[in-house]
Amino acid sequence: MKIIAASLGPFDTNAYLVIADDGKDCCVIDAPKDAGPLLLAEIKKQGLRLTHLLITHGHWDHMCDAHHFAAAGAQLIAHKDDQQLIENIEAYRSRYQSMLPMLSDEDFCSAKVDRWVDEGEMVETCGLTFEIRHVPGHCPGSILFYSAAQKIAFTGDAIFKGSVGRTDLPNGDWNQLLTSIRNRIYTLPDDVVLLPGHGGKTSVGYEKKHNPYAKP
Ligand SMILES: [Zn+2]
Ligand SMILES: [Zn+2]
Repeated sequence: MKIIAASLGPFDTNAYLVIADDGKDCCVIDAPKDAGPLLLAEIKKQGLRLTHLLITHGHWDHMCDAHHFAAAGAQLIAHKDDQQLIENIEAYRSRYQSMLPMLSDEDFCSAKVDRWVDEGEMVETCGLTFEIRHVPGHCPGSILFYSAAQKIAFTGDAIFKGSVGRTDLPNGDWNQLLTSIRNRIYTLPDDVVLLPGHGGKTSVGYEKKHNPYAKP
């Protein structure tokens, strides 16, 4: 398996392109602004078949390019609690545009999710099996995608290297976030690499020892 990370859009949001061992299938985790054209060009260049877009949560900066991947044939996977954010993105357009005037109407195209997943479900893609863990607190539909075989987890905005997701956005909840981190992230093996929605990678063991906000 190979992972290509790209930090994109006005909030430097990470998109991850995961390429299967056979070098044929690929999937994408999160769809920040400009990820669609950029990663689809890379997928075409490498002659890959895109099977899935895994969405860690419904905030605009993680899914605004989802419609590009859907149009390219990817199955969209997300948590039901963020259905409004993902499938009714037009409703948030004026608020974001007043904050970020450079955004155009094309940055607010909804996408239809093909499969809603929840805690404990498995997603098979690119020769990998991802366990879904529900980690609300930053956003109600926050989920992480954990591959036990590869010892990696795509954690969205629940936890960052030395930090945690903000909880001052609508429907954020600080205590719920800490509970999610302790019960759903710190219960993973210490050597699992965490690939977050912003910034560089970290590990479960490192955060248990050094994270100043979420103590075990
Ligand atoms: Zn977020
Ligand atoms: Zn984010």
